[in-house]
Amino acid sequence: MAGDPRLPSSPRDDGLEARLASVRSGIADAARAAGRSVDDLTLIVVTKYHPASLVRALAALGVTDVGENRHQEAQSKAAELADLGLTWHFVGQLQSKKARQVRRYAHVVQSLDRTSVVDAFAPTEAEPDPPVIDGFVQVNLTDDPGRGGVQPDEVETMATRVLETGTIRLRGVMAVAPLDEEPRAAFARLRQISDRVVALEPGATDISAGMSGDYADAVFEGATHLRIGTAITGNRPAAP
Ligand SMILES: *Cc1c(COP(=O)(O)O)cnc(C)c1O
Repeated sequence: MAGDPRLPSSPRDDGLEARLASVRSGIADAARAAGRSVDDLTLIVVTKYHPASLVRALAALGVTDVGENRHQEAQSKAAELADLGLTWHFVGQLQSKKARQVRRYAHVVQSLDRTSVVDAFAPTEAEPDPPVIDGFVQVNLTDDPGRGGVQPDEVETMATRVLETGTIRLRGVMAVAPLDEEPRAAFARLRQISDRVVALEPGATDISAGMSGDYADAVFEGATHLRIGTAITGNRPAAP
């Protein structure tokens, strides 16, 4: 049997497949317990700091969506792995001046957290008809304004701004659970915030919440997109 040249030539035996299977079954269990269908859940494997070879191995195991949080790293991995047809989610803090570059390889930007970043996606004289990207408004669920995301009372303003650009398809809201609170309580607040966004834009029903340690809580509170890193990839190498 001829091997697929896109796949690694020898099978990996580093536990990746077992960890992915374990998370997938954890998601299925949570969905069942919550009375939801797994078909309504998108697993995004966050591959930041890991080499492109790991992303390729994940694709061979059926992963379709990956998340990255730094522009240069994401750009080079997406270029190297263009043959895989993956959906790339940008989940990190984005500099306005990089927005137009991110749009060239990312399909989804999950971290719209400032009006200046949203405005950077608007058409310009140089690029009057830019490609449309999917976007989530990132919400800060903590009291610390230094954490990423807009405050809950600013969500409507941000969502309206996103809708006005005409170049971002508003998908919904994204958040990271605070460190000092039960994740489920925080995700319950996010769900209420999501309802307010849906009232503005009926199509923006997605909720991106849940990481390695709290994805079951997120499933219970209506998450549609789970961003899971270490539980699947193993520990991250140090930031390069
Ligand atoms: C790194 C990261 C994740 C994944 O975190 P894990 O704890 O490794 O699952 C999810 N979301 C964002 C925004 C991240 O930066």
